[in-house]
This record gives sequence, C-alpha cells and structure tokens, in this order.
Amino acid sequence: MNTKELDKKYIAGTYSRADVVFVSGKGAKLYDENGREYIDLGAGIAVNVFGCADEQWINAVTKQLHKLQHISNLYYTEPCVKLAELLCEKTGMKKVFFGNSGAEANECAIKVCRKWAYDKYGDYSHSNIITLKNSFHGRTITTLAATGQDSFHTMFGPFTEGFVYASAQDPGEARALAEKGNCCAIMIELVQGEGGVIKLSQEYVNELVNIAKEHNLLIVVDEVQTGNGRTGTLYAYMQYGFMPDVVTTAKGLGGGLPLGACMLGEKVKDTLTPGSHGSTFGGNPVSCAGAISIISRLDDKLLSQVTEKADYILSQLNGTPGLKSISGLGLMIGLDCEKSSGEIAAELLKRGVIVLTAHEKVRLVPPLNITMEELEKAVSVIKEVINP
Ligand SMILES: *Cc1c(COP(=O)(O)O)cnc(C)c1O
Repeated sequence: MNTKELDKKYIAGTYSRADVVFVSGKGAKLYDENGREYIDLGAGIAVNVFGCADEQWINAVTKQLHKLQHISNLYYTEPCVKLAELLCEKTGMKKVFFGNSGAEANECAIKVCRKWAYDKYGDYSHSNIITLKNSFHGRTITTLAATGQDSFHTMFGPFTEGFVYASAQDPGEARALAEKGNCCAIMIELVQGEGGVIKLSQEYVNELVNIAKEHNLLIVVDEVQTGNGRTGTLYAYMQYGFMPDVVTTAKGLGGGLPLGACMLGEKVKDTLTPGSHGSTFGGNPVSCAGAISIISRLDDKLLSQVTEKADYILSQLNGTPGLKSISGLGLMIGLDCEKSSGEIAAELLKRGVIVLTAHEKVRLVPPLNITMEELEKAVSVIKEVINP
C-alpha cells in the first residue's frame, strides 16, 4: 500500500487531507513524492517561521539532540530557562510556563485566570471568562468551550462551564458580561485566524482594555497564530499599545517542533505554585533550543521585511478581479473571493502554490523568510486563479 492508502486504513479519520505527499523542503519551497516543486504560503499552518531545512535552526536542534533530548521537569535544564529569559526580555512578561501546543498553552492561561480569581476572592464567584464570538482557542474540551463558535460546541458535551461569549465588534456585549460581576478575564485573538483572518479594531481593543480595568479582569491574548513575528511585530499586542496579563503562543515558536508557551505578566507571575500545573514534555530541551534560534532572529530588520512583504502582497492583489476584500495583519492575510476558498486552494495546489483556508477566506501565512522572487511567482498564480 502507498502512503495515501495506509493513511486511509490506519490514521484516525479526523483530517480531509489535500491530495499530496510531501517529502522535503527548502525555505518556502516544498517537494512532493514525485519531485514536484511547490511554493509554500501555508508554512504548516503558520508554524515554519523560517521555512524548511533552515540551517541555523537545524544546527541549534541537532546540537541539543546530541546532548540531551529530554529529562522532564523534575530537573533544571538550560534551553528552557534561556528561552524563557529571551521571551521575557523581549515582551516585558515576567514568567513562562511551557507546554507542547496552542491548546495546552491556552489551558494553562485558563487555569491561571481561574486560580488568580480563586486566590483573590477565596471562592469561585469570579470564575467566568469572556471570550469572543468567532474565536478559536483549541481542540481540548475546555479550549473548545472557550472557542466562540457554536459549531465547535456539539458532539463532545458536557463541555467545561464558565465561558461567556461577546461580539468581536461591539464592545457593549463584553461590557454587559463584565457588569455581571462574575468574570475574571477576557481572552482574545487580536487577529481571529481560524475564524477568517479578522483583525480586531484598535477602538474595540481600547474599549476592552478599559472594561478590563474597570472590572478588574485579566486580559489574555491568544497569540498562538499571531505570535512569533507573523504580524510584523514579535507579538501582535505590541501594535495595539497595551500590556496583556497573559500571552499564549505556540505554532511558530518552535519553528516546526511542538512547543507552546503561556507567558505571565506582573499580576499573575506567582499564581502558579508547585503542583498546581505541569507537563511531562513541556519545555523540552530540543524544542526550546530550536525556539531560541527562531526568537533571537526575529529582530527589527526581519520584522520590517515581514511588513514589506505583506505590503507587496496587498499592493499586487488589490483590485484583482474576483477578489472582494483583503483582511489580516502582516504575513497573516485573508482573501475574500468570489470563488469558494476550497475551490481556490485546490486549484492553486494543482498549480504548485500551497495556501490555507479559514472559513470562506483563502489564508496566506507564508514562512517569514520567503524570497521576493517566490512571492512574485506565487502572487501571479493567485491572481490568475481567483479571477472567475
Ligand atoms: C492553532 C490555534 C490554537 C490551537 O493550537 P494547537 O497547537 O493546534 O493546539 C489555539 N489558538 C489559536 C489562535 C490558534 O490559531
């Protein structure tokens, strides 16, 4: 049996995969089992920050692999503390909990908010967390509950209680929920990725920050997708002019190895205590060594290139027949087209360009080091394909 047949027989049926078996890559180029070349604007769902086979990342990872691949959190190791120091220095956050995925980072954030409220009020009177309609926070039972889309709230009930949902446009809904006096936090994505690459407006975020201040709520920013240089700053909140209490990230953080982080600000830096949370693999030395190589290279020069590349894509696509609108921030771009996003993605794949979809949008999240030549080529194919 070939790979596709084995997959059908032995892999749990959760994915409807695109019809291609990838075997290797270099930067933003991917190669399938027949040696065919593709330009990658998906980066393994916004994960491969420096594309495939990035020399510096490989060196960092293999150097650590030869020394110690895992030892658990019963002991000290250097890569995770160095990465935590780097993240805190670059963000102003104070402490970090490491897990292995976005959902795990968000689970940690939710536990931190709940415990912060429990410590403060001595009971569960403020255990509710406001999340936004159309958000996405993960696939565990609790992060599904946190996700503000009804379609995720079926089949697996009962779900974790204590999430209430507010409009991502009208701050009045979040205010009304906060006024009930039973909430401890507001949890948001600044660009709703899976929900359709929809950016929250500055005015709306300003209002949420005010509501949080007035009602003593923590602000959790889920930067699982927007983080790690994706939007043109190291984290997207840096463009909105406020300091979150908790920032979660994953996807791009490990550059392709599983790694999630829940970063804790001043108010909650000591909320987690021995025994209150943990993870066997969290802060794995190999993943962390790779992440140090990624995060330390996301400097001003590279981030300004992210913005330049995004501007290039927007300027090229603007006014293309068949394109209704463009949304997003930095190299996290949503295209609302007349043709369906699924149809466009399938046609692009046939023509050697990999894109993602998010609901009705075509989603572009290329490796941040994609070359201008690769971008030019990919964009010209996209223009042809979205033209009805
Ligand atoms: C992908 C994603 C998650 C879930 O991350 P996993 O690593 O798949 O658990 C959570 N939040 C956001 C915003 C995401 O984009």
